[in-house]
Amino acid sequence: MISIITPVYNEEENINCFYDAVTAVMNQVGMDYELIYVNDGSRDGTEREINRLAAADPHVRAVSLARNFGHQIALTCGMDLSRGDAIITMDGDMQHPPALIPELIARWQEGYDIVQTVRETTENASLFKRITSAAYYKLMNAISATPVVPGGSDFRLMDRKALSIFQKFREHSRFIRGIVGGLGFRQTTLSFKAPARHAGTSKFSLRKMLHLAMDGIITNSTVPLRMTFYLGFLGAFAGVILIVYVCYCHIAGITVPGWSTTVILLAIFGSVNLMALGILGEYIGRIFEETKQRPLYWLAHDSKETEPDRSLTK
Ligand code: UDP
Ligand code: MG
Repeated sequence: MISIITPVYNEEENINCFYDAVTAVMNQVGMDYELIYVNDGSRDGTEREINRLAAADPHVRAVSLARNFGHQIALTCGMDLSRGDAIITMDGDMQHPPALIPELIARWQEGYDIVQTVRETTENASLFKRITSAAYYKLMNAISATPVVPGGSDFRLMDRKALSIFQKFREHSRFIRGIVGGLGFRQTTLSFKAPARHAGTSKFSLRKMLHLAMDGIITNSTVPLRMTFYLGFLGAFAGVILIVYVCYCHIAGITVPGWSTTVILLAIFGSVNLMALGILGEYIGRIFEETKQRPLYWLAHDSKETEPDRSLTK
């Protein structure tokens, strides 16, 4: 069985269109499936629409979160509830084209555990969004320990095996792309052109976008913490040069009383402070890693376990 998971927030005008498209595609694929709508605390008629679909079609499961928890948490909720051998997470505004589902499934049947889609272009995306997105992924990959596919989205297929490991990652602020990128297993990418939204406007305000971007960096990298230490080190280096210069001035007598001591103290304590902060940062970084309680390791294969069948007959 395939689980399709779609978080929806104030998407009443998109529910039906998305449902029709997914139903048509899944009938064509001919596999058993469930479509899980996770209503992320919508204030419009989204809940009514998904409940209506769930009552009429046993493939549909409609769940509503008690309030708006954000896209990443809504996705996680759907992943936890899913029962499929493989899951597909996708947005409910048609920007993740349901027509791509058969290709995702085909890659899974070839043996890939994670099929990550990559947006080639987005119709109507502003220049600002395109530039910031490209710069962001460059920065992420430069500083993060695990790879993040540039232009990657949360439109992907995951095999149950990879999903069950993902579920062990229970951190609250989460950047699913970063976690999945670091899961390993057999991963492949599939590119697509994102069309413009079917109806309505983006539910990601600039504030939510910045928040997600920040979460991505902070949860995936301790480089920002280390930066203070490096700064302190640079400061100390510059301080030594400065102190030599101050001593020269002092000996040559080209200074006013008290100046030499003040400058030397500033140079020493400035850099010592920064380095001490950097050391604290290292410990805080370790505490941060430990509090996430991520699994230490996970297996790709065990000779005592047989691989489940991924054929079309299910
Ligand atoms: N979404 C959500 N909770 C939120 C914001 C968005 O569940 O707090 C859903 C939204 O309904 C959509 C998907 O996440 O199905 C992607 O959001 P959107 O299309 O607004 O993002 P964009 O495509 O503009 O990046
Ligand atoms: Mg969208």
